[in-house]
Amino acid sequence: MGPYFDIVIVGGGPAGLTAAVYARRAGRSVLLLERESFGGQIASSPKVENFPGFSAISGAELSDRLYSQAEALGAQIELEEVQSLQPGTPHTVTTDYGVYRAGAVILATGMQHRSLGLPGEDRLAGVSFCAVCDGAFYAGQDTAVAGGGNTAFQDALYLADICRHVTLLHRREEFRADPVLVEEARGRSNITLLPSTVVTALEGTDRLTGLVLKNTATGEVSRLPVSALFEAVGQQPETRVAAALFSLDPAGFLPAGEDCLTSIPGLFAAGDCRTKAVRQLTTACADGAAAALAACQFCRELERRT
Ligand SMILES: Cc1cc2nc3c(=O)[nH]c(=O)nc-3n(C[C@H](O)[C@H](O)[C@H](O)COP(=O)(O)OP(=O)(O)OC[C@H]3O[C@@H](n4cnc5c(N)ncnc54)[C@H](O)[C@@H]3O)c2cc1C
Repeated sequence: MGPYFDIVIVGGGPAGLTAAVYARRAGRSVLLLERESFGGQIASSPKVENFPGFSAISGAELSDRLYSQAEALGAQIELEEVQSLQPGTPHTVTTDYGVYRAGAVILATGMQHRSLGLPGEDRLAGVSFCAVCDGAFYAGQDTAVAGGGNTAFQDALYLADICRHVTLLHRREEFRADPVLVEEARGRSNITLLPSTVVTALEGTDRLTGLVLKNTATGEVSRLPVSALFEAVGQQPETRVAAALFSLDPAGFLPAGEDCLTSIPGLFAAGDCRTKAVRQLTTACADGAAAALAACQFCRELERRT
């Protein structure tokens, strides 16, 4: 059967942790399940400058604060990955450790990074998706970043302070990143920008030793010896737990409006995993609040009926 909670929250990013705060303050029993690290995407960001109340705060500190607030209010928080969700009265949530029953479920599963999809990517040490987490392992060494947006440039600038040299590889001629970041990177003597360049293969047996590159304009093939490749090629919605239950929107997001209601009674979608125009910390937190209050209302209706 498994223990019962009024509200089970899937995902411990800003949306999920905010939902836990609101649901606990409304007196509901809350279980929050997070598979990896509390704080979600922002946990690895070196600096946040647009979260109200903080002119600058590291992603790690913001994550700690969000976590501590939810925990202090009495949310039960577990490091478990949700593997499936069975709607019903109650809903059944199955993780890698156990089974839980829930009056309402808030899906706050966010986004996850895209990968280049190259053979060896999962196996080779030296392939990373987080410069802040793993950059220090390659201090004094030659590294590369794949991508042309803000994250790729922020990663390259961060790594340039630690590594001997950083090569930024971008498949297009133009960079998407803010011009100020591109100019800053151009001004660094140990950053090389290589537009119109794709990685076609990874070299190495256990550890990455180099990249095979192709110039998309000329077709020229070359080799770049590096000990690490940081992939910053965008993100995609993380909706695997609920994908079978809904028709996702064309970009793969969970369809739900500003009220966070999905088409299934008692299931709510909050934060970056939901169809929406702006995916930011503030909008994730706003969704967490809306979803929690709607879930509390749903629980009250359930109680009235039984
Ligand atoms: C590098 C970077 C920098 C950013 N900087 C800013 C910034 O400066 N300002 C700003 O406003 N926004 C910024 N953002 C965007 C912001 O981080 C996101 O909008 C916000 O984190 C979304 O919150 P969320 O809770 O919806 O999702 P997420 O943060 O993605 O959290 C979802 C959580 O759900 C967990 N999860 C997923 N599936 C499961 C499962 N099956 N079981 C259990 N847990 C699961 C994930 O592990 C994750 O922890 C940045 C994003 C990145 C990547």
